[in-house]
Amino acid sequence: MKHFDYISIGGGSGGIASANRAAKHGKKAAIIEAKDIGGTCVNVGCVPKKAMWYGAQIAEAVHRYAPEYGFDVSVNHFSWDGLIASRQAYIERIHASYDRVLTANDVTLIHGFAKFIDNNTIEVNGERITADHITIAVGGRPSIPDIEGAQYGIDSDGFFALKEQPKRAVVVGAGYIGVELAGVLHALGTESHLVVRKHAPLRNFDPIIHETLVDMINTEGCKLHTFASVEKVEKADDGELTISLTNGEQLKADCLIWAIGREPSTDKIGLENTDVELSDDGTVKVDKYQNTTAKNVYAVGDITGEAELTPVAIKAGRLLSERLFNGQKDAHMDYSLIPTVVFSHPPIGTIGMTEPEAIEAHGEDNVKAYTSSFASMYTAVTRHRQMTKMKLICAGKDEKVVGLHGIGHGMDEILQGFAVAIKMGATKADFDACVAIHPTSGEEFVTMT
Ligand code: FAD
Ligand code: NDP
Repeated sequence: MKHFDYISIGGGSGGIASANRAAKHGKKAAIIEAKDIGGTCVNVGCVPKKAMWYGAQIAEAVHRYAPEYGFDVSVNHFSWDGLIASRQAYIERIHASYDRVLTANDVTLIHGFAKFIDNNTIEVNGERITADHITIAVGGRPSIPDIEGAQYGIDSDGFFALKEQPKRAVVVGAGYIGVELAGVLHALGTESHLVVRKHAPLRNFDPIIHETLVDMINTEGCKLHTFASVEKVEKADDGELTISLTNGEQLKADCLIWAIGREPSTDKIGLENTDVELSDDGTVKVDKYQNTTAKNVYAVGDITGEAELTPVAIKAGRLLSERLFNGQKDAHMDYSLIPTVVFSHPPIGTIGMTEPEAIEAHGEDNVKAYTSSFASMYTAVTRHRQMTKMKLICAGKDEKVVGLHGIGHGMDEILQGFAVAIKMGATKADFDACVAIHPTSGEEFVTMT
């Protein structure tokens, strides 16, 4: 029977990061991956999504802004195939680079679906393998609702497999994926609808974010349907879908995309043969060191139910290997103050508490919010002015910055540096002490009064 020091079940963001780090510390490590190396992020997540978003940005620049910047542009054709080909070629290059790094680190990559036989034994491709340490990094999969005709819709994996650009698309869901996919499709010229159950998409984000997002969608984005759920879906012989909403509307489309959240992939991996306990939502229970309830079995990434973001899975995976194999006994992931960006149109950047959360935590009298609202210069040079809105939330006498939120041109790139400052405990006075960079949008965060 083959034996390894360390095995990661799942070759996505968390699994690759932890196995590479284990191998760097001299351990015999393996990754078992059922599909493509790189997992969700590389194959059906962050990477293809961002490539599509860049394509959408170019479409907006050409159609909306180029003429007033003096360019006499005529676009003969947009090729969905061309964008997809470039995107997939890029992904192939990422696969090749993973292969190179895994080989250089002497990490064994096993293709197959892994199942636990017991706490230390895994079965894959009919073969049994043991390991001193096993990490569950199997991620999740998109949820599909249990309603009549749901099977006529696709999910985000299906979106990335689309061979042709849909002419009319309905995206259902109020989270990151719904907002991002509806935005990309709209910008690329698909007649797009976003259907959300409540008053707004991203309703748990700070009010300045979701209120501005709704304004922007309504003025220049897709068609937004609020307080609407899908009742049933019908498919005609010619493929046309009729999507009936609870508010009485009927939408016709040739593509329906479910973006209503993701569920953990813990159901088929033989956890009943182990001492690993699950939470009610099917995610793996872990302590702050990523230990599961089974000895020498760990879990990292989406499967733990923490912030479902690639850098979170990577960091948790690396820190786990530092703790297990490099003597860093207290190494563990700090899940507080995680910055995040939604690649909407324009993008959203956010870290820390929303204003309602800060008031709840610190009391209304101890919270001060500073805001800024302006037309981003990139757009203000033209007649297609697009607003940027920013908010700093400060708490206590020393006005510690406990939340920073922005929606507007460039916000995706602005956030990271401010996140460092906030993680270090910056106060409003620290922000004010930093000289602004002019003319940028980011300077607003250090000049708010
Ligand atoms: P995954 O990356 O999901 O990897 C799990 C791997 O395990 C998969 O490859 C799967 O095939 C494999 N697996 C499952 N079961 C088994 C088994 N039994 N045996 C062997 N292999 C198995 N995050 C960001 O930070 N930024 C973004 O812009 C972003 N965009 C996203 C866009 C979309 C459309 C989606 C769906 C997600 C996006 N995310 C983004 C989230 C990000 O992709 C995930 O948080 C991240 O991939 C989680 O990594 P992971 O290692 O936990 O799991
Ligand atoms: P989310 O959990 O973010 O959002 C899904 C939303 O859909 C829910 O919040 C809910 O909003 C709504 N919803 C839930 N069930 C239903 C239903 N039955 N019918 C209609 N609407 C429903 O899931 P996503 O799939 O968008 O994304 C999963 C995760 O992946 C994200 O949370 C994020 O962590 C990660 N991700 C990160 C990205 C990034 O970093 N840019 C991009 C994409 C994904 P409500 O209650 O308001 O109706």
